[in-house]
Amino acid sequence: MPAKTKSIHSEVERQILKLLAKTTPDPRRIDSRIFALSKKLGREVYSDLLHLLCHLRFTPRRAEAHWDAILEHRQKLSEKFGSVVDFRVALLDYFISVNQHFRNPKIIEIKIFQKTSDSALRDELTGLHNYRYFRSELDRELKRAKRSGSSLSLVLFDVDHFKGYNDRHGHLEGDRALKAVARAIQRGARDSDLVARYGGEEFGAILPGVCKPTACAIAERIRARISRERLRAGSGELAAKVSVSGGVATYRADAGDPLALIEAADRALYQAKANGRDRIVSAGTENREFPRIDVELPGMLQVFCRQPERFVTENLSEHGLQLRCGAPLEEREIFQLRITPSQGGSEIQAVARAVRVRKKGAAFVAGAKFVDIAFPHLERLKQHLAAKQNGKARRPARRAALVTS
Ligand code: GH3
Ligand code: MG
Ligand code: MG
Repeated sequence: MPAKTKSIHSEVERQILKLLAKTTPDPRRIDSRIFALSKKLGREVYSDLLHLLCHLRFTPRRAEAHWDAILEHRQKLSEKFGSVVDFRVALLDYFISVNQHFRNPKIIEIKIFQKTSDSALRDELTGLHNYRYFRSELDRELKRAKRSGSSLSLVLFDVDHFKGYNDRHGHLEGDRALKAVARAIQRGARDSDLVARYGGEEFGAILPGVCKPTACAIAERIRARISRERLRAGSGELAAKVSVSGGVATYRADAGDPLALIEAADRALYQAKANGRDRIVSAGTENREFPRIDVELPGMLQVFCRQPERFVTENLSEHGLQLRCGAPLEEREIFQLRITPSQGGSEIQAVARAVRVRKKGAAFVAGAKFVDIAFPHLERLKQHLAAKQNGKARRPARRAALVTS
């Protein structure tokens, strides 16, 4: 596991844990301490407190009301038993008998619970956070940035030509390289940043409060270090050098929601690959080398082990497509597709990955990126796009002719 990994818990949760860890907190003073903490860190303290203690998530206002009721309940119980009742006992009884949120509770030492839940949110190979945690943190950090008016940057890294690395040196060496890259990214990030294994050989870093130029500088420093140095993985050196490409996107300048931010960083990353790899590209500065053409073409797609589905393209580029289909696609789902060009041309086949899916009426609209497209199919796609683009350029003249005739 990398030496430095951000805790699963937010700052508020860490403070509460610290407070609870103080031997056995005086049950009579816990309320004044929590109150003081809420004055310092805001009402989220009540939400996080109840979430930590019993895994129930309430809005700050509702959590505060429950907390007051629990303290009142403790007072009643203490009077009944003639001795001070611990607030956790009162909490349990409150959620069982007064406000029946529990039907069958299990009591567990907080540290044991943390260990289990922590491992569910970490990637086993690198010790970094996993995609699931990365996504929830991105949502959370973006909400925080919106509330506080601060900026937030996202960097996506992808190891260059990693399939070839595996093929040449074997999968175990590949794993060692991934660990080394993970460690280098983690080392280059600050304590307040969150680094995760985004996918196979892809990594993501959320940089709260960081503007575009600083994010680019951090990403560039990480890239340069990986490229320059022969990274050490565990004991010994790697079989060969590795390099990474990176895409940077920043909240407000490039996107206003988490998925759009990921997409913007992903587009920049793709541009970094197209420009020769081992480089960082910032969203917005990447010139769209592959224009999207609005075109409706029918096709079939098939997610592994599922029935084939019909779809219609909404736009198409050499990089990917936007399609509309009746069946739901999951974000990041990989599927095979066949597009039937108009005028009876040969089929275009490719493997694509859904990057963004939204519901539109009864249909699903997905933005997808090609992850594998064989040369003849890419050539066919290029020809088709070029023909469409030329047709589009001529269309206004034809319309003008219709008006005047
Ligand atoms: P590019 O520069 O375009 O990113 O090329 P690439 O070869 O890195 O891209 P591609 O997506 O074709 O290949 C990714 C490779 O990463 C293929 C897969 O075997 C490898 N990979 C993914 N996860 C792991 C892993 O956990 N361990 C190892 N050793 N390899 C992995
Ligand atoms: Mg990749
Ligand atoms: Mg790669």
